[in-house]
Amino acid sequence: MKKIKKKFERSIRHFQEAVKIIPGGVNSPVRAFKSVKMNPVYIGQGKGSRVTDVDGNEYIDYICSWGPLILGHANPTVVQAIKDTAEKGTSFGAPTELETQMAQMVVERMPSVEVVRMVNSGTEATMSALRLARAYTKRSKILKFEGSYHGHSDSLLIKAGSGVATLGLPDSPGVLEQTAEHTLTVPYNDLESVALACEKFGDDIAAIILEPIAGNMGVVPPAPGFLEGLRSLSDQYGIVLIFDEVMTGFRVGYHSAQGLYHITPDLTTMGKVIGGGLPVGAYGGKREIMEMVAPVGPVYQAGTLSGNPLAMAAGIATLEQMTPEAYDELDKKGARLAEGIRKNAEEIGIPYHINRVGSMVGLFFTGEKVTSYDQAKTADTERFAKYFRLMLEEGVFLPPSQFEGMFVSTAHSEEEIARTIEANRNALKQL
Ligand code: PLP
Repeated sequence: MKKIKKKFERSIRHFQEAVKIIPGGVNSPVRAFKSVKMNPVYIGQGKGSRVTDVDGNEYIDYICSWGPLILGHANPTVVQAIKDTAEKGTSFGAPTELETQMAQMVVERMPSVEVVRMVNSGTEATMSALRLARAYTKRSKILKFEGSYHGHSDSLLIKAGSGVATLGLPDSPGVLEQTAEHTLTVPYNDLESVALACEKFGDDIAAIILEPIAGNMGVVPPAPGFLEGLRSLSDQYGIVLIFDEVMTGFRVGYHSAQGLYHITPDLTTMGKVIGGGLPVGAYGGKREIMEMVAPVGPVYQAGTLSGNPLAMAAGIATLEQMTPEAYDELDKKGARLAEGIRKNAEEIGIPYHINRVGSMVGLFFTGEKVTSYDQAKTADTERFAKYFRLMLEEGVFLPPSQFEGMFVSTAHSEEEIARTIEANRNALKQL
């Protein structure tokens, strides 16, 4: 275990208690900090762009709850909306006006969405969208991309060999082979492999699901023509094209990734930002498809806490503050951060590749251009682990994995971006 100067005594004590009764001490695996070879840091509180751990160390935070906190921590308007809503009751199992208000905001901002259903997580959103696509097309298979994460439902927890489409193997024990064999996996940004898979299995592919900007292998934007190609192959073979915008939705622009690239998917899955930091997910799209969902149609999907008033209130209060101008500002901050890091790495002579879309910034420790998972995997994870710890020591809290991007929020000030670039410089020098 690497010893660093900051004290983490209380974090360590908490972790020792937690591991006795929570698997690995955490409620989501990446929080365990395994890939950066440390004990997890326990957070006491957050305000704006900053978090403070239970030992009193303060950091500029670029995890931002893995994307949802586009306004930073404890945004006063969001907190007030949650408080006001909680005073009136937290859940009813009957509809509230907040749900319609949220749906209207989603339909207005997400270009392809005519009808939307709220759920409680991104996992539920993608799982439900797949069921719907299978019911709509009366087909079995789905096609996803290597290194893309769409939550942990069985059909999506699959990867496969690279190059050409292969029949999937389960990524996790407990996923049946009978389930895995219906998931085809091809390399991201490789249209040729998608075309081959369509040629071979096209009549049985219900859906192509992808992150329009991959964010779970580090940040990897779509290559020019990739999204257009997927749209036309989907049309050609009658496949439902699903954009998983759980991460990119309401983050990379007012009209999300589909607005940025001007591609209209058939279905879209959402989450993170629309919950304003509370548990949420949503799926929506063409009316014709969405009207197959119960109670209008026969495709069953339900949820005790779906459209929960607290999550709706937090999400609405978040989206209301995210005007087109706010996205422009955020984009500039993302650009400044990426440029500063690029300059540092150039000057210090560290092999690197940096990808950025809006406020999603991914630094890879590899000299290769990163457009796919295989290329992302050439990054030096040992070097990243060291870099992560050095940045922590510098007071910057990064996502604890080489394969996750940094999330900038509107609460990150110019000074904090500048301080982060300086911290990055200090850290790179010590690698
Ligand atoms: N889809 C994408 C693109 C994601 O990034 C994630 C989570 O990181 C999910 C789906 C799953 O969302 P959740 O963790 O809310 O289940």
